[in-house]
Amino acid sequence: MSGVNEIRKTFLDYFRKEGHAAVASGPLVPRNDPTLMFTSAGMVQFKNLFTGVERRDYARATTAQKCLRAGGKHNDLDNVGYTARHHTFFEMLGNFSFGDYFKERAIELAWGLVTKHFDLPKDRLLVTVYIDDDEAYGLWKKIAGFSDDRIIRIASSDNFWAAGDTGPCGPCSEIFFDQGDKLAGGPPGSPDEDGDRFLEFWNLVFMQYDQVAPGERQPLPRPSIDTGMGLERISAILQGASSNYDIDLFKALIAAAVEATGVPAEGAARASHRVIADHLRASSFLVAEGVLPSNEGRGYVLRRIMRRAMRHAQLLGAAEPLMWRLVPALIREMGAAYPELVRAEGLISETLQLEEVRFRTTLARGLGLLDEASAGLGEGQSLAGETAFKLYDTYGFPLDLTQDALRARGVSVDVDGFNAAMARQKAEARAAWAGSGEAATETVWFPIRERVGATEFLGYGAEQADGQV
Ligand code: ATP
Ligand code: MG
Ligand code: MG
Ligand code: MG
Repeated sequence: MSGVNEIRKTFLDYFRKEGHAAVASGPLVPRNDPTLMFTSAGMVQFKNLFTGVERRDYARATTAQKCLRAGGKHNDLDNVGYTARHHTFFEMLGNFSFGDYFKERAIELAWGLVTKHFDLPKDRLLVTVYIDDDEAYGLWKKIAGFSDDRIIRIASSDNFWAAGDTGPCGPCSEIFFDQGDKLAGGPPGSPDEDGDRFLEFWNLVFMQYDQVAPGERQPLPRPSIDTGMGLERISAILQGASSNYDIDLFKALIAAAVEATGVPAEGAARASHRVIADHLRASSFLVAEGVLPSNEGRGYVLRRIMRRAMRHAQLLGAAEPLMWRLVPALIREMGAAYPELVRAEGLISETLQLEEVRFRTTLARGLGLLDEASAGLGEGQSLAGETAFKLYDTYGFPLDLTQDALRARGVSVDVDGFNAAMARQKAEARAAWAGSGEAATETVWFPIRERVGATEFLGYGAEQADGQV
């Protein structure tokens, strides 16, 4: 059985042999790209190659890309701890053609890797294509020899891929693995597709357009290929695990937390262990790139991730700050592939420890208030926005932490009420400021804050945390 590190290598070696340049992962914080908060897919570092704005000395590339899907257009933060297949931070394996090969070769290459190198049985595989993509349909028939029921046409945006509101995009074809009827769920496109049985693990995007503005799409100079395979998902498949959290890498991280807390990853504690392991990776990789917890922008997404994990550490009864103690286990698992983690070990540990020490002083009291305020609430009811705002403002509870804390009981939060309370407080602060007689500061400072602050602050709620920085 191969471990995560070998599986990554198998993928990259395969495409290297097929004439692809092995390119290092781009950063999690995209350079010179104001449209994205974080890198959410392998294609991000190659955007300008697809559009033809930039040329390099290779037309084919392969990467293992660090991705983060929290706080932007692609946001899986709320899924972590609840689904078997989502992380905030994950690695996306990809192969890319910049105007070189297109659909046919992309499908041949994918099929070769999946069936000859990963040895997945054909009768456990099925694919989707975009509703009107007869070409992809025909190619799957020809190359894989699939019967019609194994090639599913999908009309939704699931089969039209875009990294953000603008940029290169195109129809896609996804490969699913049938984990067997021990798991619930139907094939993609069916009413119960959200079940775990059919696992999407590879997306082949046929890059054909550049979304230059909302509603305005232009053809790319040359059709290209962009694929993304979740390393953790293919590892789960190859290791016979029905959850990403049962692969070698996550088992090691969870074992470290079990050892540190003395609480086994069973029953209700299982989700907490998963959240902690996931958020440890996301937090550590962000800090390694110089993102630090703050109340604005990317730093606030980091803070939300850290604090969400820290509440789960509290749930496990951790008497001392926990997260920083898990950093050595992470470095053992991922340090060889990502030396930036090793270089930043000191900073990562200190940042995690400081944030947890700071947050623990208010966490317990905030949870007390939350328990009291939500005591009478049951399934389908919601916590007053005012209370959620007080937890945010006085106790440092990000909104998603409060939502996560109530979720198990089926209680939601009145998000509109939360936003209204936030707006009210801002207005009051502004009025108090204006009343202080410092007219010069008032006229200079507020316009600047309006321009800079208002666009960077992404903490009010998911709607506003929408990938724009
Ligand atoms: P899903 O439907 O499961 O949320 P997706 O369609 O949003 O996945 P894509 O945007 O197609 O995912 O990304 C390409 C691949 O990256 C997916 O097929 C999957 O293997 C992997 N992937 C996507 N999101 C995550 C995540 N949050 N955690 C782990 N792997 C992911
Ligand atoms: Mg998704
Ligand atoms: Mg999908
Ligand atoms: Mg997909």
